[in-house]
Amino acid sequence: MKMSDMGITVKKSENFSEWYTQTVLKSGLADYAPIKGCMIFREHSYAIWEKIQEIFNKRIKEKGHKNVYFPMFIPESFLKKEAEHFEGFVPEVAWITIGGNSKLEEKLALRPTSETIINATYAKWIRSWRDLPLKLNQWCNIVRWEKATKLFLRTREFLWQEGHTAHATKEEADTEVMEILSIYKDLVENYLAIPVLVGKKTENEKFAGALYTTAVEALMPDGKVLQMGTSHNLGQNFAKVFSIKFIGEDEKEHYVWQTSWGVSTRMIGALVMVHGDDKGLVLPPKITPVQAVIIPIFYKNVDQELILEKAREILNKLVENGVTAVLDDRPAYTPGWKFNEWELKGVPIRIEIGPRDVKQKQLTLARRDTFERLAIKEEEIVDVVNKLLEEIQSNLFDRAKKFLEDNITAVKTYDEFKETLKKKGGFIRACWCSSPTCEEKIKEETGATIRIVPFEKEKPFSNCIYCDKEAKDVVYFGRAY
Ligand SMILES: [Zn+2]
Repeated sequence: MKMSDMGITVKKSENFSEWYTQTVLKSGLADYAPIKGCMIFREHSYAIWEKIQEIFNKRIKEKGHKNVYFPMFIPESFLKKEAEHFEGFVPEVAWITIGGNSKLEEKLALRPTSETIINATYAKWIRSWRDLPLKLNQWCNIVRWEKATKLFLRTREFLWQEGHTAHATKEEADTEVMEILSIYKDLVENYLAIPVLVGKKTENEKFAGALYTTAVEALMPDGKVLQMGTSHNLGQNFAKVFSIKFIGEDEKEHYVWQTSWGVSTRMIGALVMVHGDDKGLVLPPKITPVQAVIIPIFYKNVDQELILEKAREILNKLVENGVTAVLDDRPAYTPGWKFNEWELKGVPIRIEIGPRDVKQKQLTLARRDTFERLAIKEEEIVDVVNKLLEEIQSNLFDRAKKFLEDNITAVKTYDEFKETLKKKGGFIRACWCSSPTCEEKIKEETGATIRIVPFEKEKPFSNCIYCDKEAKDVVYFGRAY
């Protein structure tokens, strides 16, 4: 491969969709699979996924959740038990009908989500108030037979975590929903450096079978909205169909209250879109698998061993101080090649060491987010790198935050609404009468949906943009991925 084949050939601002695909493929995040609609998570994206797992596991384990694994096969009769749930998922379910040489007596779904199989089991495990709360989570793959697919954002198989909890009271389930939502917000904002709006979903947009759904939603640079995670209160819907009952302290029988919640590998797609630039990925320091790369600069007739020795010394110093650093000492590649490759991969800091640097006890650093280069004294390396990592993390968040704020537009009429959607996209703040009919009409006519209803009610500033009757809520619309 020539160096010219390596880089991205279109500009993010000119052809966003092509830029996205090239960035994903060329940075080594993913590849197309030899199966239609599926993808391969390569080392670079899997390492990011492992970071997400590490952060999220720590947070939920502190709250007393435990990880488990349930089968990926779900009997049709299980899926059918909760009618709304079945209706919601059946268009995308992939089925197994044959095992070995024999036709199965009952079709098995490849899990599109696990509420049914987990709740059928909870019915067996939960007997008394002493068994509650039950708080389990699983990391697994999910299959949804999507028609139009896009790497990370929508593929027939993807990875996620799904939490499933059972509680004695609605209040406990409400608290759980909100606590998980705040962990998601923290994960997305403080690690992925992507600012979000949080709120409740409308009845039309809620999870199939839930009492209500809450969500974190982020804005992408093309003006479309990406749902980053959801946390549902399932009420007693599943408890009733799966008969999950417990004997309370009052010695009477009660149904449990439940929640479920998830984030998936589509978050990696958001990372690409929000922070990436014309040279490739730009990864936030708190989520990147590699925070700093050291590249020795060899010329002819210089003592390579001397430079390598210094490079290893710097590497050790950084690693000892908690920086995830690597040394790229591959002799078969030129420094220029390596610069391009690590830029494509989005590594926040590059450290260059040449013969003159060794002699003068200095180093040259380059920031991935701003391309700024700085010469520093060798002895300052740990402090400077740590400070830079913090700066890059907050710079990425601030940039994205400004973009989000600049792209929340308040409108008072349907004409303004359509105009904004066409010209700018983003989140559109508008007043709504709370009728599902108006919501559906708007969706039909413009493709925009209500992304969230804010938790703290905002005061309506006009009538319903669709029917012009009195508005009940201020909501945030957007066209979603
Ligand atoms: Zn209306």
